[in-house]
Amino acid sequence: MENPDPQSGVPQSDAPLLGEPLPVELMNTVWADRDGLHDALADTDGLARWLRAVAPRFEPALAADEPAADSAPAPPAPLADRYRRLRDALRRLAAIATEDPRPAAASAAPDLATAVEAVNRACAYAPTWSRMEWPDGGAPSRGTAGAPPHTTAAAALSRIAEQGVDLFTGPDRDALRACRAPGCVLYFVRAHPRREWCSANCGNRARVARHYQRHHTDPPA
Ligand SMILES: [Zn+2]
Repeated sequence: MENPDPQSGVPQSDAPLLGEPLPVELMNTVWADRDGLHDALADTDGLARWLRAVAPRFEPALAADEPAADSAPAPPAPLADRYRRLRDALRRLAAIATEDPRPAAASAAPDLATAVEAVNRACAYAPTWSRMEWPDGGAPSRGTAGAPPHTTAAAALSRIAEQGVDLFTGPDRDALRACRAPGCVLYFVRAHPRREWCSANCGNRARVARHYQRHHTDPPA
């Protein structure tokens, strides 16, 4: 899935981006297909691709040393570790919040306390704050500033962690779901009461599986 998006030409992440809140998109960098589990953040190039794919969704926008530019260097390995730790922490919290029964989806973060601590550390790692720009004769706009290590990839980590705190302390926690389609390890926020699956794909696979079960395992009448 590294082909450029035909519309934007931007290289795509390996992870399935579902239009979920960014902490959920980060959780879903662990995904599965017929070949088993995959980690879209397994290396720094994977992290760089994922950051490029989600960069346009930060509000306010990320500051200027941007992973959005194709030429941006891959983030350093310790930062990729931090992203995986935050991702695993968010997956553990999601598993607790959704009473996730899927063994394949089990997080590498062992328990609640470890996960909460990891989210809090990520919030504090590279915090950013608003910075107003108002050129004489121009229009005011909101930018961001931050303390070192103020790289865009570091700031994005803290911003996603902050959004994770919003997710788990706000109303979206009750709407968070583990996708129960066969083999799926993704999470989604059920914004609409009839949504049962992370994607139409999973809905189709689940319907096929149910159909198969009905017709192949029912005892004869
Ligand atoms: Zn699914």
